[in-house]
Amino acid sequence: MATKQNGKFKVARYGVLGGTFDPIHNAHLHVAVVALEELNLDKIIFIPSGIPPHKAKHEVTRADHRLMMTTLAINGNDNFFVSETEVNRAGESYTIQTMRELRDENFSAAEFYFIVGADAFTQIETWAMYEDLLKITKFVVVTRTGSDNKTLDETIEKYKNNFGADIYKISIPNLEISSTDIRSRIKRGKNVEYLIPAVVVEYIRKYNIYKN
Ligand code: ATP
Ligand code: MG
Repeated sequence: MATKQNGKFKVARYGVLGGTFDPIHNAHLHVAVVALEELNLDKIIFIPSGIPPHKAKHEVTRADHRLMMTTLAINGNDNFFVSETEVNRAGESYTIQTMRELRDENFSAAEFYFIVGADAFTQIETWAMYEDLLKITKFVVVTRTGSDNKTLDETIEKYKNNFGADIYKISIPNLEISSTDIRSRIKRGKNVEYLIPAVVVEYIRKYNIYKN
């Protein structure tokens, strides 16, 4: 919502963090707080994917579980919100649809910053209508272990030059946490405490997720 401040209208600045969140982990949460702080955003909207086009081939945990784990993880942070839009969408879901939907719902009252890890950003050419996406959405790219900084900088420059894209890069401490590693640890009966929020550990135990 645009709000009036000192007699002027202020356009709201919303960060959008999309992901499979299978499960959500502490690096996702830290990425969100740093983006909020560095770009002076008003809130972060976490959007768990429905059927992820990139991951459709391997098994992804039921959307209701991923949505619930995300909701539990952000509970208590007044700047964090969860959107069910992708989970509720029939068929495959694409970021371009989500960003268009957010833009259309909010008219010009809000600006959206799509937050993405360097690994995902350097693969953006595999995303549906990525050129349009780069034109309509501001991006916040976050450094991630395993992603080469030079390649990242070159990629950012290329899209800025080719599409006039609005891209901000932020550096976070290297947190070598991934959902893949967490799933693997749980499967092997290893401890995942402090890699994911305690409420999420509890939820996974309760529903016996990632064991098989
Ligand atoms: P998976 O191993 O299943 O791919 P993931 O840990 O990469 O899981 P995703 O749900 O795929 O988690 O990621 C959502 C977004 O968060 C992506 O843009 C990803 O790059 C970013 N992200 C995830 N983990 C980190 C991390 N440790 N550092 C920086 N960015 C991250
Ligand atoms: Mg990933």
